[in-house]
Amino acid sequence: MTDLPSPKHSASLEQGGPPRRLLLVHAHPDDESINNGATMAKYAAEGAQVTLVTCTLGEEGEVIPPELALLAPDRDDRLGEYRVRELTAAMSELGVTDHRFLGGAGRYRDSGMMGAPQNRRPHSFWQADVDEAAAALVEIIREVRPQVLITYDPDGGYGHPDHIQAHRVAMRAADLAAEPAYRRDLGEPHTIAKIYWNRAPRSVVEEGFARLKDALAELPFPASASVDDVPGVVDDDVITTVIDGGGFAAAKAAAMRAHATQIEVVEPWFALSNRLAQPLSAVEYYELVRGERGDGVSGGSPETDLFAGVTEAGKGAA
Ligand SMILES: [Zn+2]
Repeated sequence: MTDLPSPKHSASLEQGGPPRRLLLVHAHPDDESINNGATMAKYAAEGAQVTLVTCTLGEEGEVIPPELALLAPDRDDRLGEYRVRELTAAMSELGVTDHRFLGGAGRYRDSGMMGAPQNRRPHSFWQADVDEAAAALVEIIREVRPQVLITYDPDGGYGHPDHIQAHRVAMRAADLAAEPAYRRDLGEPHTIAKIYWNRAPRSVVEEGFARLKDALAELPFPASASVDDVPGVVDDDVITTVIDGGGFAAAKAAAMRAHATQIEVVEPWFALSNRLAQPLSAVEYYELVRGERGDGVSGGSPETDLFAGVTEAGKGAA
């Protein structure tokens, strides 16, 4: 099979569509803002097409504001629909207009923490057939034709079943989308040039918590989280790519604040429902796991652009 651009793809380039297209796959509403808020805001502001796919509505999350406690899954069980609105508000803070739920809103339900009985519910994302869920994502990949995909590492960053499953589905869909013989009813084949996993360099996380120690007395949070509470922490040399979203720190904080059932923000810190304080940084880190580094090759210095080395045709340096 030759590797010529599909007619559909060529046409969209000729029509002057946005040349850079970034796809993010996340488990729950709020993960995108916590992990990639500055990256999403930066690329959206630069005119890239940013597409977010969220796999569940986050129905099993804990609810922070006491006045919203009735939304909880063990009460009215209306947290999912509420979090759709929070996500919409967060996307507007980040300037992202294309956000979708995998298979449509409510197709897959939040599986709860690993080992919880919710893991075994038939419609939980943890019980989803990976190939079936991947097909829904293939259709989006072949429509959007991203050059860059961001998702989690195989552990989902911290072992949450929905994060692990989001990783599996994203990686499987990237393979299937490129496969010429696979489901042509879902669109023309498309190869994603570069795939990144969310990461956090250990030295930076440790330094953040050291600063937090001094600031904690002034904060409304009773205690500090620890390095082990941060998803995706790796040795510094695993990091291939650093996106300095410093100009978008306020947008990231506002997006996180939009997820008020899940996050409390006191810049430059935040806490989840456990109320343990963590650093909030607009510098976001990645590990390139597929495709070639486009710059910073010498001396192992990291890339500073997710699209480095990607050609307009989306074939990448690989
Ligand atoms: Zn999550």
